[in-house]
Amino acid sequence: MGRFQNALKDEKILLVDTTLRDGEQTAGVVFSNQEKLQIARMLDGIGVHQIEAGVPVMGGDEKNVVRKIVDLELEASIMGWNRAHTGDVQHSIDCGVDSVAISISTSDIHIVHKLRTDRDWVLSNMTKAVRFAKKAGLYVSVNAEDASRSELDFLLKFAREARDAGADRLRYCDTVGVLEPFKTYELVKTIIEETGMEIEMHTHNDFGMATANALAGARAGARLIGVTVSGLGERAGNAALEEITMALKFLMGTDMGIDTKRFHEVSEYVGRAAGRPVSPGRPIVGSNAFAHESGIHADGVLKNPATYEVFSPEDVGLQRQIIIGKHSGSKSVMMKFKEYGIQLTGEEAGELLPMVRSATVELKRPLFDKEIMYIYEDYLHQKRKNKHVN
Ligand code: MN
Repeated sequence: MGRFQNALKDEKILLVDTTLRDGEQTAGVVFSNQEKLQIARMLDGIGVHQIEAGVPVMGGDEKNVVRKIVDLELEASIMGWNRAHTGDVQHSIDCGVDSVAISISTSDIHIVHKLRTDRDWVLSNMTKAVRFAKKAGLYVSVNAEDASRSELDFLLKFAREARDAGADRLRYCDTVGVLEPFKTYELVKTIIEETGMEIEMHTHNDFGMATANALAGARAGARLIGVTVSGLGERAGNAALEEITMALKFLMGTDMGIDTKRFHEVSEYVGRAAGRPVSPGRPIVGSNAFAHESGIHADGVLKNPATYEVFSPEDVGLQRQIIIGKHSGSKSVMMKFKEYGIQLTGEEAGELLPMVRSATVELKRPLFDKEIMYIYEDYLHQKRKNKHVN
């Protein structure tokens, strides 16, 4: 809890990780209780400010494990997720969390077709739940579900009533991922100007813009950003913890003090626990994030990594790899042999290169070091034979 409160006071940008709530809501994903505890510990260990731990009203294992996460006494604030019912909030209180998300839809499509009620009902239920939670001394994030498809005037009214009921912030939910960054910036700016509410971005990746939209919100003044490890979450997922952290640091000049060196470890662990291994092309933490094959790129990186890398692989717990494949050049081949104490001449590398290339085309993949050595043995053998013939 301390870390969250201090960062709030210091006017920093804060991360709210919902891997254990929205992340676990990914179709087909379930974490064991042990995994949930381990993920909470890891998130706290790297410096995440607030952890949305689960949905206590579900009872059973879900409620028990939220209580156990609270018992870990982490530095991060622990939040329970609730519908806008006092009964739900009571389950969160039972778990001892210090903060709650109170969620209700604000778009007419949800109010009419899902909740089958009207706007007044939404406002009064939200207000009751917020007052109930505030009376219990909790920090309250009011979630405007489907905010991005809500009529702006109603959303502003909702935010003002939430504020007047004592809510500490508004979670602006792009529930179905329909925002784009320019629109996001304008909307969030308007909400802050009109209501003075602290804003949390909660963005989904249906059009591949979850990270961009969250950052646009931050630029407009939102101080809290909802993330999940590797972007796990409903459908196409949420804004990714690693992308938001590194983009804020390297593209926008804001260092949240997160221990990024553990990103690879954390994403691997969560990927395994979720049964969703990190794909090679994943930004920041994918195994290809620092793999170079093409001759021009590998040559540049070998001379100076900054030519094709914006930060170091060590910054996120990865290692640089020079891949020997179809697009490799002679410089990469020379470097690879040097690793094995063999100093090739430029001429030798040039002669080996076509052999390496045809082997990769044949195999349809890059070569293992051992295979490269076999090619080299063949090459030497061929050379000796040619000498004899001559
Ligand atoms: Mn969501």
